[in-house]
Amino acid sequence: MSPVPDFPPEFKGDLVTPESADYEESIKRWAVNAKRPAKIVAFVKDAADIALAIKYARTHNLEIAIKCGGHHPAGASSTDGGLVIDLHRYMDYARIDPEKKLGYVGGGAVWETVDKAAIAHGLATVGGTVNHTGVSGLTLGGGYGFLSSSYGLALDNVLGATVITADGSILTANEKENPDLFWGIRGGGSNFGVISEFVFQLYDQRKTVFAGLVIFPPTVLKGLVAVTEEWWKTAGDKEAMIQIAAVGPDHKPGIIIVIFYNGSEEEGRAVYKKFFDLGPVADMAKEIPYEVLNSLQNPVAYHGQGVYQKGVAHKKPDYETIQAAFDRVVELCEKPGPNPNIMFEYFPLHKVVAKSGDTSAFRRDPYPSVLVNAFWVEDTEENLKLGKEIVYEMCAMIKKSSPELSAEQQQGYGNYDDEAVSKVSANKAALVFGKYYPRLQELKKKYDPDMVFHKWFPITPAP
Ligand SMILES: Cc1cc2nc3c(=O)[nH]c(=O)nc-3n(C[C@H](O)[C@H](O)[C@H](O)COP(=O)(O)OP(=O)(O)OC[C@H]3O[C@@H](n4cnc5c(N)ncnc54)[C@H](O)[C@@H]3O)c2cc1C
Repeated sequence: MSPVPDFPPEFKGDLVTPESADYEESIKRWAVNAKRPAKIVAFVKDAADIALAIKYARTHNLEIAIKCGGHHPAGASSTDGGLVIDLHRYMDYARIDPEKKLGYVGGGAVWETVDKAAIAHGLATVGGTVNHTGVSGLTLGGGYGFLSSSYGLALDNVLGATVITADGSILTANEKENPDLFWGIRGGGSNFGVISEFVFQLYDQRKTVFAGLVIFPPTVLKGLVAVTEEWWKTAGDKEAMIQIAAVGPDHKPGIIIVIFYNGSEEEGRAVYKKFFDLGPVADMAKEIPYEVLNSLQNPVAYHGQGVYQKGVAHKKPDYETIQAAFDRVVELCEKPGPNPNIMFEYFPLHKVVAKSGDTSAFRRDPYPSVLVNAFWVEDTEENLKLGKEIVYEMCAMIKKSSPELSAEQQQGYGNYDDEAVSKVSANKAALVFGKYYPRLQELKKKYDPDMVFHKWFPITPAP
């Protein structure tokens, strides 16, 4: 017998309730603090299942959360007492059309699925740099990746999507059909409906790339920032790196660079010669299969940690600021409780900002994104509170280097903001969406006037 006897019998997926054997597993998320006690988890199989789940939840006055990869650390894909529409169990697929260079990607897919399916045909698209992250959350909120320097954001490469809206309609959204919805979902996150499938543009991709972790000692930080600043000014289409100011598992502080060049090792080492000349203490960069690239950070970004995240922007690498922030990271990592790190994401942005901002609802800034994380072991309110305080302290330090940036620009990348789910998230939406907010409010009024979808920077419908 169904654990939810009055659920429509046409539903093909699985229903899980607190009485089910797999309930605990079903409500777990990437961050341990993002778990919430849902009343029902609906593991959907297709768009029709999603429509049934939405209608059921609305009839029974249950809050709806939508889950893909489950990586939002503040619980944007979880609900306390509501219904989760979980797409990952059955809709984690990527069907590739190699002739047309298109990827039909399920709304529950993780990037590993896309990367592996596409490269089997010598193709790729812009995707997340940790391959167990979900395609949906990452794409709908932006999507920076190692290929952004070539092809912009993940959402710039969405050619269409199937969207199940608040009234249960199954709509196609692309340039020709429902173009307003197509504009809004690309940047507006989960505000307008559940995506059952994306159509992605794919590109020819060489089978191997030059990439890996290169670790520098704190003593070379000044030189490293200088070299980075010079490189960033002219960084080209095949280049990208993430610099992480952290204390390693061996308790040694260092700057870990995840370096990337879309070419051979010889070319990559030549392009980044000035970095290597600084004398890394470890150099693990080499030519690797493309599909391994987005797994390089997996060992540190593992499931089950306590996490708080916040994005912030800086205008350019600035030594004084980075040194001060790094020193504070080291100091905090010596204490018990949440440990921070700071990730400076140098994805060259020329292709991101070349797109007219008005092609999608994503607010584009020409400044490198910075992500501040705090991680902890014990899932307590105290650690969450401390983690948030630490993250905000570090963000304030980074902001100091670029006082000329506007409040919107300093706000940083929306997908890195744990306040997306907080009590102030509706007020913050105007800041996150910037000049697009009024247009998004009109769309919200059209597609979700009752704010059924309100788990990520909820947009208040236009009056
Ligand atoms: C380890 C890690 C690495 C990351 N790396 C990157 C990176 O390289 N680049 C980058 O840009 N960002 C990155 N991010 C940020 C990431 O984009 C967000 O955390 C994103 O929300 C994750 O998406 P998800 O599907 O895994 O999350 P979920 O928690 O499943 O969902 C997040 C949001 O998306 C909505 N959503 C999920 N599925 C659907 C759907 N099918 N239809 C409509 N709405 C849906 C949810 O309702 C929720 O609001 C990273 C985050 C983590 C934790």
